[in-house]
Amino acid sequence: MNEPLLTIAVPSPLHRSFDYLPPSATDAAALLPGVRVRVPFGARTTIGILLEVKAHSSIDPKRLKRALRILDPSPVLSADIIAMGCWASAYYQYPIGETLSAALPTLLRRGESAAEIDDSGWRLTTEGAHTDPDTLRRAPRQALVLRQLHLRPEGLRRAEIEATPEVLRTLREKGWIESCTLTSSDARVPAEREVGHVLNADQQAAVDAVRESLGEYAAFLLEGVTGSGKTEVYLHIIDTVIAQRRQALILVPEIGLTPQLVDRFRRRFGVPLALLHSGLNDRERLTAWRRAGSGEALIVIGTRSAIFTPLARPGVLVVDEEHDASLKQQDGLRYSARDLAVWRARQLAVPVVLGSATPSLESLYNVARTRYRLLLLPERTGSAGLPSYEILDLRRQPLEHGLSRGMLARIHSHLADGGQVLLFLNRRGYAPTLICHDCGWIAGCARCDARMTVHQAESQLRCHHCGSQRPIDACCPACGGADLRPLGQGTERVEQALAEHFPEVERLRIDRDTTRRKGQLASLLQQARAGHGRILLGTQMLAKGHHFPDVTLVGIINVDQGLFGIDFRASERMAQLIIQVAGRAGRRDRAGHVVIQTHHPDHPLLQTLVRQGYPAFARAALAEREAARLPPASHIALVRAEAMEATLPADFLEGVRQQIQELGAADVEVWGPVPAGMERRAGRWRAQLLLQSTQRGSLQRVLRGLVRQLEQDKAARKVRWSVDVDPADMF
Ligand code: ADP
Ligand code: ZN
Ligand code: ZN
Repeated sequence: MNEPLLTIAVPSPLHRSFDYLPPSATDAAALLPGVRVRVPFGARTTIGILLEVKAHSSIDPKRLKRALRILDPSPVLSADIIAMGCWASAYYQYPIGETLSAALPTLLRRGESAAEIDDSGWRLTTEGAHTDPDTLRRAPRQALVLRQLHLRPEGLRRAEIEATPEVLRTLREKGWIESCTLTSSDARVPAEREVGHVLNADQQAAVDAVRESLGEYAAFLLEGVTGSGKTEVYLHIIDTVIAQRRQALILVPEIGLTPQLVDRFRRRFGVPLALLHSGLNDRERLTAWRRAGSGEALIVIGTRSAIFTPLARPGVLVVDEEHDASLKQQDGLRYSARDLAVWRARQLAVPVVLGSATPSLESLYNVARTRYRLLLLPERTGSAGLPSYEILDLRRQPLEHGLSRGMLARIHSHLADGGQVLLFLNRRGYAPTLICHDCGWIAGCARCDARMTVHQAESQLRCHHCGSQRPIDACCPACGGADLRPLGQGTERVEQALAEHFPEVERLRIDRDTTRRKGQLASLLQQARAGHGRILLGTQMLAKGHHFPDVTLVGIINVDQGLFGIDFRASERMAQLIIQVAGRAGRRDRAGHVVIQTHHPDHPLLQTLVRQGYPAFARAALAEREAARLPPASHIALVRAEAMEATLPADFLEGVRQQIQELGAADVEVWGPVPAGMERRAGRWRAQLLLQSTQRGSLQRVLRGLVRQLEQDKAARKVRWSVDVDPADMF
């Protein structure tokens, strides 16, 4: 009689699963899909995930290898995660073994026991309990931890605390906190539980619509202007969900997972949370993952990859800032966490809520096609109205490090009135270019088709694409001249201009350079909110999700880059950014004012956006996309290739184009190959091929056939190639 066989997803570049004989002395029939199995693979052993136990294989059993060991008594990946993994693997053209492996926390991928979880936590000592966090103004990160622990006298698990290990160590050394063991999985009631706001009519209608759908699949787009109370809507929905002892999974953009948001959840709900944030080590991450999977944590909050978190009793999925590009993974399994959330919700038969003040055109298109239901919050809560806009024409104006007189005057007057000012510039460093005034030479990166950015404080030139750096040249390598000048503005330069103009005013600069160390961003944001820093200056880190209640003036220093981008999404991104930055202003009771500097004051996009708002802009942009048959009115995929040798990528892609033609799909158009937007990056030459179709199914069929062929193809081994389905980024 034949032995049963195990079909296993083994991490490898091959787009298939593998059959094995069960380990000796194993009752294979009793095995459940989702357990980890150690298997021999080539010359090594590795860990795969059991997909299926089969009675027969088409392969002669004598040719099959025997699996070595079953690692888990029960599945580590639930059936729904495996199903989603299989779907994602097929849809994004990524090998199933790698896909499921990516869904596992690192420790499980390495073969550690899934049963061990970390019950350690922290609680206040008596001395800590008597320390008022407000007295720690100079140590905002420590104050934050104390505040979190004040809400939970019995202690919090490590994974529930937003803090770096250093901050915890300092607090322990001060004798304010001590470690403890937390075993109870019962709901814990915070010392002072906050009650929610009474909802306004629009919020109530949104909450009711989702509540009525609990227990079944429904997709909602919650479109609410900034400050309209979207988070409050989530909180009310989640309240109902946890009252049914079901779980809520909330996905947030990369830098949206702020202590502020987490605090709000914690103050509101007396239930265990699991946070999947970047400050966790592997053990803590596994613990959070397990607590979600066991059902102990009723609220799970995380960034993109949290979509793969197992849930014992799912009740609702929420994707906050659904337009945000960080929800799309840019390498490996190039998935959209938003799209997977919708897929998973359907499969779990729960509602999914996508929220944004500036919804993606994809989601608006899905609303128009009645796939998603639209929930609108057109007004801000409280007394503050929406911000007013003003466009400052830069043409022929004198500029001081990028600031016009008009901008400087407005900053002056808002500061004089006691307001806080937020300036936005999506460029860090001192200047994006170093140019020789004698001959026009420009400092370029040796490894990329890109200019080096001047970082004055460190006297360095840095490439923001590959990370190369070198000292600023003393004289021009082309003509020997000594007159090298920084051209254009980055945040560092604008900060200098502000220091000259407003020497007595406290400033905070928030960009990647000032927030390199862990915890620095949280600390700066905390100071900004507390009103330190009358002028806030920063990149898009400042634009997302944060509330600065005292900001009355928002200045957008340069909007022009976004108006003329080559990516067809450039204008959508720019519009979203403008509205998001603008939304930081005027949240308490003062309406905010937004000033936009541009050399193109009559640009139709700007005009529509500023006069009629985002919905009008989005309608116009969507009509343009439909006319041009660009996504979301069609579906696209990019095949990218890169190599050290200049001609290889294009040659390889030319072959790919022919293969696609032989696969013969009349309704899939192929464009290219063309050099990538930045043809050389980090020393590699890059090219790409665009596939486009109005029929998703046809595109999928062609891609599947292509990937199968490339797997066997020798030429494909000379280049690095990848497939990006629904690319967020066209380069
Ligand atoms: P969004 O997520 O849309 O930016 P929030 O939910 O954070 O909006 O709400 C913005 C502010 O308004 C918050 O300070 C919140 O506490 C408050 N708020 C929300 N809903 C209400 C309401 N119904 N009544 C009064 N204040 C509210
Ligand atoms: Zn020169
Ligand atoms: Zn470079």
